Formats: sequence, C-alpha cells, structure tokens
Amino acid sequence: MLPFKLIYSDDYYLPIGAHVFPAEKYRRIRDRLLETGIAEPSDFLTPRPASDEDILLVHTPEYVRKLRTGTLSAHEELEMEIPFSPELVQAFWLAAGGSILAADYALKDHLAFSVGGGFHHAFPDHGEGFCMIHDVAVAIRRMQRDSKITRAMTVDCDVHQGNGTAAIFAGVHVANEPLPSGSASTLNWSRPSKALNDRVGDVFTISLHQENNYPAWKPPSSIDVDLPDGIGDDDYLAWLDNALSSGLRQFDPELICYIAGADPYREDQLGGLSLTIEGLKRRDELVFRVAEARSIPVMVTFAGGYAQRVEDTVTIHCNTVIAAKEVFGD
Ligand SMILES: [Zn+2]
Repeated sequence: MLPFKLIYSDDYYLPIGAHVFPAEKYRRIRDRLLETGIAEPSDFLTPRPASDEDILLVHTPEYVRKLRTGTLSAHEELEMEIPFSPELVQAFWLAAGGSILAADYALKDHLAFSVGGGFHHAFPDHGEGFCMIHDVAVAIRRMQRDSKITRAMTVDCDVHQGNGTAAIFAGVHVANEPLPSGSASTLNWSRPSKALNDRVGDVFTISLHQENNYPAWKPPSSIDVDLPDGIGDDDYLAWLDNALSSGLRQFDPELICYIAGADPYREDQLGGLSLTIEGLKRRDELVFRVAEARSIPVMVTFAGGYAQRVEDTVTIHCNTVIAAKEVFGD
C-alpha cells in the first residue's frame, strides 16, 4: 500500500476524439500502476465533480455561464483547441474536484496525486491550449477559502509556460534580470526584487519551460525560467534546483502544487527539450526531496505529455508515482 492516495476516475477521460492529447493516458496510468504492483486498488480514491461555487473561486460568472449553456463563441472554442461538448464540461468539473480532493489529502498525508489535472493554460475568463478549467487554481482557492492554507506555491515543470497560473495569481510582476556573473548559461532568469517581494501575493508561481514554444505571450510568473531549445537532463535539473532554492528563500508555502508535465521529454511531439525518461524521474525526485526536507505537503497533477509512443508518456507519469514512493515511503 502506498503512503499516499491516488485520486482517479475513469471519467477523467476527455471526450475529444482523435487528438494529439492522449485522453486515454489516465486509464493507462492507473492500469500500469496496478499491473506492476506499484499501487493497489485501495490506494485509489474516486473524486466528485467540483461545484459551480468552487469553479467560481477562479473563473468568471460569464465564462462559467457560457460553458454551462454551451454558448462559447467560435473563436473561444478555437482558442481552447479541444471540441466543446457538455461531456467535456463534466470532465473538467471532475478534474477540478479531483485536484481539490488531492490538495485535501496532501495536507493530511504530506502527498497526494490527482492522476489527471494540471490544466495550467486556463484563464479566469477563457480556455486555451487544451485547458478549459484551471483545476489547480480551483484547488488552491478552495483550500484557502476553507482556511486550510494561506500560502501555496506552484512548481510547473510542463514544457509549456503556465500562462493561466501566472495570470490568475498575478501578485508578483517581475522584470527579467541578467543572470548573476559566473552563471553557466544565458537563460532568461526572472526573480522578484526586494520591493516587488514585499507585494508577493498568497500564491508564488514557478514555471520552467521552453522559451521558444506555446504560449507566445507569457504573463510573468513569480519565477520564470525560459529554457533554450534542446536542453538536457543535467542543465534542466540545475535550473530546477536553482528555481526551487530561490523560490523557497523568498516564500514559505504551506502547500506545493507540482505540475508534473511529461512533455519536456526528448521525444515529445509538442516539446523541444531533450530530457530522458530517467532525467524526468530525477526531476520528480528533486521536487519531492526538497518538499520532504522542508515538510511542505505536495499535491501532484500530470498536465501534458505528447510522446510519439503513448507508452512513454504513461511511463513518465508512472515514474512520478514511483519517485514519490521512493522519497516518501518508509
Ligand atoms: Zn505542456
């Protein structure tokens, strides 16, 4: 039995037809975890859909009304890049409910997964990039509303910048500063100045992503690490370590929301970084070790993953569970 819960439902499946997003991955992750003995049936918990009240903690009434009545404009549907249906609305409400449950269990058990979620391109008033509802933001706002936490940190390791997250929690706007001298790279490294730090909001957002990729417009996170094309395991891990250290020097979260995208993988169809499957597992271990050393609870969501072989995406996501078991297990 795992020392943490896996929140999962067969209804996480997104009814989007033939699409680059492998909507069947959630079920395949669940099946693989069971077949390989990493997890037992009792490790899984089934979520309920979020309520409209929960969704409205993040999203505008107008947007929620359009989703509920099926009245998105053609442009709005196009921007979401997945075909609208009432069933899809249900799936996103369920993803948000799953992330709320995962956050709740993370606060109880130090760690919990939603075997789904991580829809970090959703904005308060519109969806983008396969994301209708920002499940992670809904979970954070719900934990805050219930007075279970005050401060949360998002650690977004999807290959695409967390533009929705940055826009929702825009408490910190930072200017890009040059790297400290002696740094090994010319990466675009943003960090809050002292004056800006005084205005830090209640959610600190970290995003490591490929600079030359979607989204074209990247609203500033608290820390953005804009990685060059083709970066490999060691450079990536050094930058992640840097970003986590810097973020945790400036901010003391009561919950870390780890968005563990599988798309920094070198064989990803929508990504241009060069991480190996092993490097991605080391990435997961690093996040978990840092959180565990500081006793900060972690809730994990899976976000993107578009490997040419869906099997690889499934392996990368399952490895995140294995890494957690290794770090948090006895
Ligand atoms: Zn992505």
